[in-house]
Amino acid sequence: MGLKMRPFLAIYCLGLATSIVARNVITHLPTHPDHPDFGVASELQPHSLLGQLVKRDEGQRCGPGVGSCSSGNCCSAVGYCGKTGSHCDASVCQAAYGHCEAAGTPQGPPTDKIDRPTLGNLPYAPRSIRSCNVPGTIALTFDDGPNMYTSDLLDLLDKYNANVTFFITGSPGAKAHNIGKLDSEPSASILRRMLTSGHQIASHTWSHQDLSKISPEDRKTQLLSNEVVLRNVLGGWPTYMRPPYSSCTSESGCADDMGNLGYHIILYDIDTEDFRNDDPATIQKSKDIFDSNLDRGKASERSWLVIAHDVHEQTSHNLTEHMLKKLAADGYRAVTVGDCLGDPQENWYRMDDRVTGFPISKLLSSKSSMAASRDGKCANPTVTCTGSNFGPCCGSNKMCGSSDAHCGVGCNLRQGQCRLPNNGPLYSAPKAKLGLKNMPTSPKSESTTLSAVSFTAALVFLAGAALTR
Ligand SMILES: [Zn+2]
Repeated sequence: MGLKMRPFLAIYCLGLATSIVARNVITHLPTHPDHPDFGVASELQPHSLLGQLVKRDEGQRCGPGVGSCSSGNCCSAVGYCGKTGSHCDASVCQAAYGHCEAAGTPQGPPTDKIDRPTLGNLPYAPRSIRSCNVPGTIALTFDDGPNMYTSDLLDLLDKYNANVTFFITGSPGAKAHNIGKLDSEPSASILRRMLTSGHQIASHTWSHQDLSKISPEDRKTQLLSNEVVLRNVLGGWPTYMRPPYSSCTSESGCADDMGNLGYHIILYDIDTEDFRNDDPATIQKSKDIFDSNLDRGKASERSWLVIAHDVHEQTSHNLTEHMLKKLAADGYRAVTVGDCLGDPQENWYRMDDRVTGFPISKLLSSKSSMAASRDGKCANPTVTCTGSNFGPCCGSNKMCGSSDAHCGVGCNLRQGQCRLPNNGPLYSAPKAKLGLKNMPTSPKSESTTLSAVSFTAALVFLAGAALTR
């Protein structure tokens, strides 16, 4: 190619990249006051419930354009005043039009004073992101959990070696939660498992209120409380969030507020409508939605950002396996939202430096942005055995595995995990020592070998110290 062609090529590529970004980023959030993201719309469906609400309260209506409830009454999602759980539950109650059940606040130091610099190149709020941009990837996302079905879903994802993103609602008062406080068992173990299995954790607010309809102070509390409870378990909190009901308008100030709090607003471009079809007889409708969207393009050119809810039985026990089979058959990979947007993992969370030794810091220090081996080989230095189907250790034969031959002597710490002698626990290389980013750019074999040796010695020392505790 002639030299004169290069500027044109560069301009063309820049234009292409800009158009891709423009396609995937919208500047204004659409308002979906009745969006089916678990709550308002699903409550509207059963007419019998509507009848009960009328009977239970004093017959007063409430809500936008109507007014607020008085004397401690709560305004239900369908616009009636009353004091039952159906009116006052924090996840369905309209806080702007009456009392709502105290969603409580999590224990632990607040996160509001911690610095929130922007990380990476992905647009932050007030802009929002509704599609992926890495061809061949599909980001399945699951909102509102964890709940009683989430562990089954994690088992399924392990079986398919798939990674997904969970948008977590922290309050034990939110209606989808039926397994207690997020920072207590069993929820805490489920969250840790999500992280160590390679899934992404994102925020779906503290108690699932409509962020466009509450005050700026309440809005902030919705995010900060969720940060605290997630920090209590993970040592940090996400930079990605999805507003409940997909509602976070510019007019309300919500979109700007999310930007000030340092969040990416993540929407979707396939809505499975799984909440409508949580029945063995109807879940096929959600499968059809997923299939017909994928049939519109080829994996070599397309990517998708899909919304579903792990709090529904049919989603966790039926729909998700269908989606995993379909996407694999069509040549797609199931990845996290961060991966489908090409945003490195170190940008997905903010650390709370006041706590140490928590899962996020361990994860970020041990995992680089290397890709998990897909063929069992680890000869390529940008491939890691961590997260591969073949075993976590890269042996001296440049193959992934979990036997002593892979994890013991000759094991390559930089491309996976290694086991300490005498069948000790598996260890990963902290990025600060051996991660790709900190490797010398012009390798001097002597210093590299030296630092690797001294690091291994330090590791053995640290591991020994850990084991004797
Ligand atoms: Zn939701």
